Amino acid sequence: MLQRNNCINLRSLIFFSRYGSSFSKFFTSQAASSLQPVCEPATYSNRGDDEYADLNWDNLGYGLVPTDYMYIMKCSDKEKFSHGELNRFGNIEMSPASGVLNYAQGLFEGLKAYRKEDGRVLLFRPEQNAMRMMMGAERMCMLSPSVDQFVDAVKQTVLANKRWVPPPGKGSLYLRPLLMGSGAMLGLAPAPEYTFIIFASPVGTYFKEGLAPINLLVEDEFHRATLGGTGGVKAISNYAPVLKAQAQAKSKGFTDVLFVDSKTKNHLEEVASCNIFILKGKTISTPVTGVTVLPGITRKSIIDIARDYGYQVEERPIPVEELFEADEVFCTGTAVVVAPVGSITYQGKRVEYRTGDGSVSQKLYLTLTGIQMGLIEDKMGWTVEI
Ligand SMILES: *Cc1c(COP(=O)(O)O)cnc(C)c1O
Repeated sequence: MLQRNNCINLRSLIFFSRYGSSFSKFFTSQAASSLQPVCEPATYSNRGDDEYADLNWDNLGYGLVPTDYMYIMKCSDKEKFSHGELNRFGNIEMSPASGVLNYAQGLFEGLKAYRKEDGRVLLFRPEQNAMRMMMGAERMCMLSPSVDQFVDAVKQTVLANKRWVPPPGKGSLYLRPLLMGSGAMLGLAPAPEYTFIIFASPVGTYFKEGLAPINLLVEDEFHRATLGGTGGVKAISNYAPVLKAQAQAKSKGFTDVLFVDSKTKNHLEEVASCNIFILKGKTISTPVTGVTVLPGITRKSIIDIARDYGYQVEERPIPVEELFEADEVFCTGTAVVVAPVGSITYQGKRVEYRTGDGSVSQKLYLTLTGIQMGLIEDKMGWTVEI
């Protein structure tokens, strides 16, 4: 179901594809700013809603699969975001003096679109991603799109790349919104121009284990976040510092690292890119978010689902010792959905957990993905049909 503004955007793409040189001129005339799409003539052809891109849909992982279009919207620091458009997916050009390249003034988001059996496409709580980006932008002194602009841009990006939304049950189309200080400057200051981009890639399971339990190593030397820092927002600068700890853990055969807080070094925070939960009896606990722990939308949704099932859910500081008494541990995030943890190793001591059939994490996983894929009635009003 194309919305009116989407029709206009797609039609204008077809128009530009027929008039390739006007297309390039159009962009050259916009080139006053520091970031320009390196454009190839767009060749959008309306293949009909039912057609799929030429891709082996079985065994999708998390590698980047380039799709047809990306969304781009820019604004100077003296205005608001007002007008974006779809471009062919491709490289972008930016000044070497841009804020994002020099001072990491940037944020990212991640959300998924699922194809239903009836061919319609569902988004999961996209307005939550929009609000989180706005909060992050405030922390990083950036301008950000409004919730409506963000959600509309996500919808346009999905529709333009619809043939890349995997068949039901085979995966999803991952949407990656980026917000960055694209304007050029030299001294440390907020950038004079901001760029919002959304690109898309079909994805399957995140960890190489697939849906099998993952094995975590508690990391108490490196920290991903500190009090007063930016751990509570999806700042791009939070992620490269994690790579070294991850690489060390992977070289020892672990799937990922579980970070503890930098002050006491004794309380759980989260995994590199997902939140953590522990279950003991009928109580599910997860660390408090906001300062050093990213407020995950999957986390928030799992808390509601678990309460609905009658579990007591506590958001509180969790000492590392509780890992040794837990019945189950699982991670949540858009990418991993709900990943069962098979074992955790802390200072050489390894503890194993219940996983698989009959586990609570599996029940939560099935309920959440059932809602996301449109297989279970969405009583919460979380899904948005495009
Ligand atoms: C994105 C992210 C999460 C998960 O958030 P979701 O909204 O559930 O995808 C958790 N932790 C970190 C560090 C993240 O970057």
